[in-house]
Amino acid sequence: MPALFGAIADDFTGATDLAGLLARSGVPVSLRLGVPDDPPDEAAALEVIALKCRTAPVDQAVAACRAALAWLKAAGAQRFYWKYCSTFDSTATGNIGPVAEALMDDLGTAQTIYCPAFPENGRAIFMGHLFVGRQLLAESPMKDHPLTPMHDSNLMRLLAPQVTRPVGLADRLTVARGPDALRTELARLAAEGVAHVVVDAVADADLEVIAEACRDLVLMTGGSAVAMPLPRLWLADGTLHAPAAAPQPPALPPGAIVLSGSCSAMTRAQVDRYAHHAPAYRLDPLRLAEDGVAPALDWLAGQPPQAAPMIYATADPAAVRAAQAALGPERAGTLVEEALARIAVAARDRGIARFVVAGGESSGAVAQALGVTRLDIGAEIAPGVPWTFAQSGGRPIALALKSGNFGAESFFADALERLGG
Ligand code: ADP
Repeated sequence: MPALFGAIADDFTGATDLAGLLARSGVPVSLRLGVPDDPPDEAAALEVIALKCRTAPVDQAVAACRAALAWLKAAGAQRFYWKYCSTFDSTATGNIGPVAEALMDDLGTAQTIYCPAFPENGRAIFMGHLFVGRQLLAESPMKDHPLTPMHDSNLMRLLAPQVTRPVGLADRLTVARGPDALRTELARLAAEGVAHVVVDAVADADLEVIAEACRDLVLMTGGSAVAMPLPRLWLADGTLHAPAAAPQPPALPPGAIVLSGSCSAMTRAQVDRYAHHAPAYRLDPLRLAEDGVAPALDWLAGQPPQAAPMIYATADPAAVRAAQAALGPERAGTLVEEALARIAVAARDRGIARFVVAGGESSGAVAQALGVTRLDIGAEIAPGVPWTFAQSGGRPIALALKSGNFGAESFFADALERLGG
């Protein structure tokens, strides 16, 4: 069956988040890690390609996304989606705008929308300003993110320096008047030459309106949530058909590992909480620079897999700043990501088949090291975080890949409980 919908995500947990929300419809979702080497064969109706390009240089990010688009087109997709973080993570020279413009050019479309809202996870957009819970983005913990600290909350102001064509807003008052009003407003803005339209959304009902109004746009951009209603709309009008049965998790040996490279406020709370339940080992980038990953591997070798040990680099903003001052932000991040990747491979080689990973970049590094190329999407653990099933080293594994801010404080234990065994 050819794909109908092709999405490109700028990091791995963003991709699993989107894939999980799409899978709520019951339609099979296939998630590819990186652009597949082979031309499309068995495409699912909903295809998501996860890239690792959120903080890559612009030309590399654009080239990777264009290659992903070409693969999705070859798979038969007719609607496309550019997925970035619900906190609009990017820098002034960031990739959200340039990638959107490149995809628009390749698809021959003059307008797209930007809607990173995710009300279930406390991300709302009002008058073009992004909120995290009750705080403006730039006043939220995102101001301290190790790689993409966000110092402005106005999405039009964040986007304008990243694009060459005009940026506009379809505000909540328009969205509240329904899909026809929003379509009319988008057409009015298009007539004025506005190529990039930020669309307000504060509640799930707004996302339904936006999805209905934009379901025929060749390209939409946003967080995961505004894509969620699309499969249901396509099932309702017969564009898509629901499958007979949902995919079942594979049989897995006992044992698990929790790996955390996210320093987000929520992950810090999750790491604190889980450290009370299970053996825990902290990775310090300064010590990694000196001693490498061997001490962590030695520690892991002494832990029974059934205890589901945790290895984490998660640290508070002051500790992150200190590591970055000593090593530079990139090297500090790379040291941690490479360590988590090596530890994941060592864990798999010990027979561990359940991996819970916190952090977008961190998850990307782990999944890549495990040689995972395709994931089937399973049950959701928390909004935007499903269990996923893949092959690694010739055996089935399960991965829960969590973006930093997602999940409740009990997330790590919740994830393991949800999978059972
Ligand atoms: P999130 O989903 O919260 O954004 P990511 O894994 O995408 O998490 O990004 C966190 C980044 O911070 C990674 O590059 C990681 O290697 C880096 N990092 C993790 N711990 C530390 C630390 N203690 N000091 C400096 N950088 C760190």
